[in-house]
Amino acid sequence: MNNSGTEYPLGSEQRPLRVAVVGAGPSGFYAVDALLRRKDVLIEVDTFDRLPVPYGLVRFGVAPDHQNIKAIIKGYERIAANPRFRFFGNIQFGRDIHLGDLQAHYDQIIYAVGAETDRRLNIPGEMLSGSYTATEFVAWYNGHPDYVDSRFDLSHERAVVVGMGNVAMDVTRILAKSPDELAATDIADYALETLRASKVREIVILGRRGAAQAAFTPKEIKEIGALEGVDLVVDPADVALDDESEKTLETDRQARTNVQYLTEKSQEGPGASPKNVHLRLLRSPVEIIGENGYVAGVKIERNVLVKSESGEMRPRGSGEFETIPCGTLFRSVGYHGIPLQGVPFDQANGVIPNERGRVVDPDSGEVVRGQYVVGWIKRGPTGLLGTNKGDSGETVEAMLEDIQGQTAAMRNEQEPDAIESFLKSKDAPYLTFSDWKELDLLEIEKGEAMGKIRQKFVHLSDMLEALDKEGR
Ligand code: NAP
Repeated sequence: MNNSGTEYPLGSEQRPLRVAVVGAGPSGFYAVDALLRRKDVLIEVDTFDRLPVPYGLVRFGVAPDHQNIKAIIKGYERIAANPRFRFFGNIQFGRDIHLGDLQAHYDQIIYAVGAETDRRLNIPGEMLSGSYTATEFVAWYNGHPDYVDSRFDLSHERAVVVGMGNVAMDVTRILAKSPDELAATDIADYALETLRASKVREIVILGRRGAAQAAFTPKEIKEIGALEGVDLVVDPADVALDDESEKTLETDRQARTNVQYLTEKSQEGPGASPKNVHLRLLRSPVEIIGENGYVAGVKIERNVLVKSESGEMRPRGSGEFETIPCGTLFRSVGYHGIPLQGVPFDQANGVIPNERGRVVDPDSGEVVRGQYVVGWIKRGPTGLLGTNKGDSGETVEAMLEDIQGQTAAMRNEQEPDAIESFLKSKDAPYLTFSDWKELDLLEIEKGEAMGKIRQKFVHLSDMLEALDKEGR
């Protein structure tokens, strides 16, 4: 133990910069990468995740039939192979470890916790049985330990999906696709079983704005259009653009491609496939209608688009209503961050207030020393996985600017073993990266025997048993 009080430059051989990353999803991994790539500073990084295993939304968000996207994990494995990286899974900030503990053991903290809950629609009937968030459905079919016991009623012919982002596309595709096509993926087996028994034949997607404002990327909507045994139906009147929207096509490539594709689709008309996906544009739900506590339909209003002061086209109700009968409804209108104990939070936007990744106290407007933020909890729930690379890089730049010229002594708590002793003194057993590598192999092996890519562990107790570790 070194407790001499001698100060050395922070980030030097004698006094490495010690960083804690809270959250082992993509933004956390890109931050670790940006830190460990630095040749001019010696940095040690410990990553904590409330879940026992790493990769956040790549494991629990990316759809099981999008394994090409999950291949990004190979890069994260390379980052994790650095001896200056450690992973502590099953350690929750605010439960097993607190801000003060991290401050005692580390020089800097990065919050990379993503956006854990969903945005609300704030309309009557939102909480009826049969009305679900897309976020819980996605977590459920991906084997997220918190959602294993969720139940989804797929016993009705029509399901409605509110919102037209890429998450809505994932939910629609999983509902529409033949379960046989999903069987060889890493989808949770209980989800596959439910999907095999599904009666859903029609999925109505409600987009509150028009084709030029769709949040989905062309690849995702085209994938729906290409599904075997499924017709993508769009009404020609819905695709027609107002003059202002037409103008945006000149500069917005995604909008141009989407509009062109949807226009072509609208001309095909309804087909004769056993299932169909009906994209209804310029429609907002105003009420989810219930019968005996269960969803029986959704009342929608047709919108017109009006140009806002910022120049954006916003939806406005036209006063024309209709009711779509349905028994199941998924709200896919975006994720929303939740606060961390003791850390500033902007409730309206669901983010930690920050300047270029430096946490800011909203009351004083001052930067909070030693605390940083990356990913969705920094900028809100937007962008693709790769967007986090630049975003995390920006935060790491700020972190390294902040330690310039600083010296520090090495306290006992900052010895690498100290955090392990601290965690061992807690009730929660933690999992390391080598534990994860063992589980990873076991999942792949078990999957192989079942003819699928992997069979995920979904219960902490099973993971601990496989690793021969004691549970709580
Ligand atoms: P998103 O892209 O922000 O889409 C949210 C959708 O909900 C938009 O269509 C939005 O319409 C609509 N919406 C919001 N509030 C609404 C309301 N009150 N009533 C009706 N509709 C409402 O969010 P997301 O789909 O959750 O995706 C999050 C991020 O993850 C995105 O960047 C997405 O691209 C990414 N992602 C990517 C993939 C992939 O690459 N395959 C897969 C999943 C997610 P407005 O546009 O009118 O606000």
